[in-house]
Amino acid sequence: MRAVTFRDVGDFQIEDVPKPSLQAASDVLLKVTLGAICGSDLHIYHGHTPINPGAVIGHEFTGVIEEVGPEVRRFRAGDRVVASFFTACGHCYLCRRGWFAQCVDKGTFGHGEYFGNLGGGQAEWVVVPLADHTLEVIPEGMSDEQAIFVGDILSTAYFGAERAEIRPGDTVAVIGAGPVGLLAVMAAQLFGPARVYAVDMIDARLELAQELGAIPVNAAEVHPVEFLEKATHGHGVDRSIECVGLISAVDTAFECVRGGGTISMVGVPSKTEWQFPIMQAWMKDLTFRAGWCNVQAYMRPLLDLVAAGRLQPERIISHRMRLEEAPEAYRMFDAREATKIVLTP
Ligand SMILES: [Zn+2]
Ligand SMILES: [Zn+2]
Repeated sequence: MRAVTFRDVGDFQIEDVPKPSLQAASDVLLKVTLGAICGSDLHIYHGHTPINPGAVIGHEFTGVIEEVGPEVRRFRAGDRVVASFFTACGHCYLCRRGWFAQCVDKGTFGHGEYFGNLGGGQAEWVVVPLADHTLEVIPEGMSDEQAIFVGDILSTAYFGAERAEIRPGDTVAVIGAGPVGLLAVMAAQLFGPARVYAVDMIDARLELAQELGAIPVNAAEVHPVEFLEKATHGHGVDRSIECVGLISAVDTAFECVRGGGTISMVGVPSKTEWQFPIMQAWMKDLTFRAGWCNVQAYMRPLLDLVAAGRLQPERIISHRMRLEEAPEAYRMFDAREATKIVLTP
């Protein structure tokens, strides 16, 4: 089958690899119908995430089930499904407490040997282990483009907004208007804020953020913390959602909130450590949360919100390309010429 593989740093190729087959009784074999390129794939591309050469890339995907293992209960051949970007067992201590992202038996798709040795979704087929706790059926009438992001970036954005504790009438700053930030602009509005600001430096992203309901703040033109302070009569915003992971963005997220406010960080940290401003946090009664998304807990309700027309995540897709065009798609995404690219096998 055709698949996008890691060859070397900065070198992803599309090539022929063996078609995967069921290994365990809880596996399903999925014929991929759509894959998406994610910022996390760029971490691999740039060599920031360790991976073995030959590994198949891709952790955001939808597909149609071709084969099910004998222990799979929730799915049948022919079901059209969306996958979480990681697997969860569903019965360990933390899964039972609803923290699937902390499952002891978790693996991440498209991240090679060091992250559970799972296949990737930027391919024609992929095997999904622990399928009962990793997949959700896509509602009838919903397109793959509408559904695909619940498996990663829409759940992440919603998780960020929920943990920001937004209340009706609040002001919210979303730091970074990349794919997750744009979806955070959408997700934040479900909680009834008075205003949502989107901070970025790329015009095209800020324009889209505005279309999606945010007030754009171009950090290349104004100092975002000063701008937000002025816009909130000197107080600072009530909540910030950090969607970048760069230390400068975390600092902005921290500095732009008022006393008693909440900072919710979902961007993948660019460094393993950061000097926590404990005095500022104490003096200002701040709440700081950071974490990667507990996707499995959000997929079903988010699919319901999309089905009801209350979220339109597909609006962030800027490019639709063929799987065969993946090397060019990566070049474009890396150069920030594209907001979000989906690939069709
Ligand atoms: Zn992703
Ligand atoms: Zn578990």
